[in-house]
Amino acid sequence: MGQARSIIAGLVAAILLSSLAPAGRSEAAAARKVAKTRPKQAQVPAKCEMPKFRIVIDVGHTPDSYGALSARNDPEFGFNFVLARRITAKLKSEGFAATRLLVTDGKARPSLFKRVSAANDGRADLFLSVHHDSVPDKLLDTWEFDGAKSNFSDRFSGHSLFVSQQNPHFTASLMLARMIGRQLKEQGLHYANQYTLPVMGRYRRQLLDKDVGVYRYDGLVVLSRTRSAAVLLEAGSIINRDEEMAMNSPERQEAVAGAVAAAMREFCERR
Ligand SMILES: [Zn+2]
Repeated sequence: MGQARSIIAGLVAAILLSSLAPAGRSEAAAARKVAKTRPKQAQVPAKCEMPKFRIVIDVGHTPDSYGALSARNDPEFGFNFVLARRITAKLKSEGFAATRLLVTDGKARPSLFKRVSAANDGRADLFLSVHHDSVPDKLLDTWEFDGAKSNFSDRFSGHSLFVSQQNPHFTASLMLARMIGRQLKEQGLHYANQYTLPVMGRYRRQLLDKDVGVYRYDGLVVLSRTRSAAVLLEAGSIINRDEEMAMNSPERQEAVAGAVAAAMREFCERR
């Protein structure tokens, strides 16, 4: 992954320099703005026209604050970036021309408010945040990879979807999450069912759809402060040694991108 990592770093740098990043605005100012403009009234288009439907595909975490570390010591941010780019390309190729990839820089917490500002300022119709999963530290085992002592946990695997009841479009968010979950299930993929277990501690969540794996996560900034419907996708576990390899494969990435695109079409038709 060394070479892949440097390619990703180059692509990310190029994207961050482009107009997508809210350049020149201080993080504090962005946070204040979001705090002031809590979601009340959302922009709900009368109907969904695919070419005009503004979908924001958010790359979870930042190059500086990269999220989880995989079983083979690759940062989550890289996995999120590759998959989010593939999802964006798929949506555009299927007619959602106004889809945009959102890459954010900086530290973890301020970056959350930057994301929300970027989505709200761009009058997004839909926000999908792309992540990859790990486990709480207490569940980690150790192994040696590439000569380095590394962490892993093969206990859990699968994707999961999260929505916030604090989002002004909770019902629409839940509907989209269910559609994505159903499409992933049709691809033969299973969801991560551990979030209801006591072993998850503070990461425990309420399961809203036990058929396709949609959980409730009210406190998430990117789900609760966005004015559009919003869903967070944990596409798979990168701390699980087998699933990490699967998530690295173009076949799995394409399957997830295809599932998201099919769900998005269905969502659009229902509007
Ligand atoms: Zn993450």
